[in-house]
Amino acid sequence: MHPLDPTRRRFLGLCACGAVHLCAPRPAHAGRPLAEPEPETRASNKQTILDLRSQSVQRGWKWIVIHHTASGGASVAGLDAYHRRRFDDELGAEYHFVVNNGVKGPDGAIQLARWRHQVPAMHLFHPERAPESLAIVLVGNFETKGPPSGAQMQALGQLTRTLMAKFEIPSDRVTTHRGVDGRLTQCPGQHFSLEALKKQLL
Ligand SMILES: [Zn+2]
Repeated sequence: MHPLDPTRRRFLGLCACGAVHLCAPRPAHAGRPLAEPEPETRASNKQTILDLRSQSVQRGWKWIVIHHTASGGASVAGLDAYHRRRFDDELGAEYHFVVNNGVKGPDGAIQLARWRHQVPAMHLFHPERAPESLAIVLVGNFETKGPPSGAQMQALGQLTRTLMAKFEIPSDRVTTHRGVDGRLTQCPGQHFSLEALKKQLL
């Protein structure tokens, strides 16, 4: 979730009430195993990864920070338009990469957003704690709706490994929005497991 998002107050208010989460029914897809994206998405991700590996990039990115959109569905075009309007930033989405969830884009699809411009994103309250950070957003709300899909986690692992190798980023510089900003945010939500991601990075 974007740190300057005007819906943040409501979001934090909801998260401040532990009972809400304890009482929330477990979604049907909670805990489902890691699954590959659909063949077409897998082929598209494979090409995206190959392009990333061979792309010449001048900037020395140093951190990878994971977010969720805190919404049901999202597209790159939608995030571009939303952030352009809300934050008066003509470059649009304040995330470098989007990993979609099957609602407004294929489940597990790796999509380029701010990466296209090779400039930093305004995605942290305390950017000085993770300078030169790349922002990856997973579409979904992992605070209230259960964990990311298996296809999303598989794609996130693949993308993160590629970026770590390309920029020599150690795994202790792969973290979450909450890991950087602490109590200021719940992003990417209680059901997102950084541990599960780290296991894929070994
Ligand atoms: Zn966030």
